Amino acid sequence: MRRSPSAADFAAQRADMVEWQLRRRGIRDQSVLNAMAAVPRELFVPERYRKRAYADSALPIGHGQTISQPWIVAAICEALALEGSERVLEVGTGSGYSAAVLAMLAAEVITIERIEELAIAARQLLAELGITNVEVVVADGSAGFPDRAPYEAIAVHATAPSPPRTLIRQLAPGGRLVIPIASDGADMLTVFRRLEGKLDPMTGEGLQRTVIGPCRFVPLVGSEGYPE
Ligand code: SAM
Repeated sequence: MRRSPSAADFAAQRADMVEWQLRRRGIRDQSVLNAMAAVPRELFVPERYRKRAYADSALPIGHGQTISQPWIVAAICEALALEGSERVLEVGTGSGYSAAVLAMLAAEVITIERIEELAIAARQLLAELGITNVEVVVADGSAGFPDRAPYEAIAVHATAPSPPRTLIRQLAPGGRLVIPIASDGADMLTVFRRLEGKLDPMTGEGLQRTVIGPCRFVPLVGSEGYPE
């Protein structure tokens, strides 16, 4: 009978993942590489998929949702250009894995999940790991979380039909919103940077838009996303 992988086996797989899937595929931000080398992804994956925790793919986490592919988590974190002092809003907690990575890159993370069971499980696991700078909120994150705005960075892990204006309004001057936006063919991972001065999310005034590339995500369901 084959034994289950040990913590040392997973650590070796994690190091390989960082080298082969991230560093050699263009992730340059050393703090992102360090965070992804530290967070035990296997704990965020359901038991039956644990052996595949470091595969180069998304994996099911229940409720029709997924934990994202490691590279896309790293690409989003890198695009947020975090220095460590920021308050970050994350939409789409899912398993809590990307929130654990962000917790190592920023001062404070507010992460929103619309499926209560996923939020509860993520909150518990993050607490068990001793991560104290992440707050998990159950809500429709397509409308952001105005109570704690503005945010220096906002990461959305689900595809929006168009840039959610309320999220853009919750960006601090200089802040970055990284979000997959639906287009004809593929979802496009896009960065919106709020410039200093006047902001008009309707016309795009005061926003700099950069497309990172194609990606595939579950839909953002909510008032500024898709209907249920
Ligand atoms: N970042 C997660 C992780 O590390 O496991 C994976 C996120 S998964 C690809 C996308 C998540 O977004 C799902 O858990 C889904 O329920 C959630 N979601 C979709 N629309 C949402 C909304 N409007 N507000 C909050 N969460 C939403």
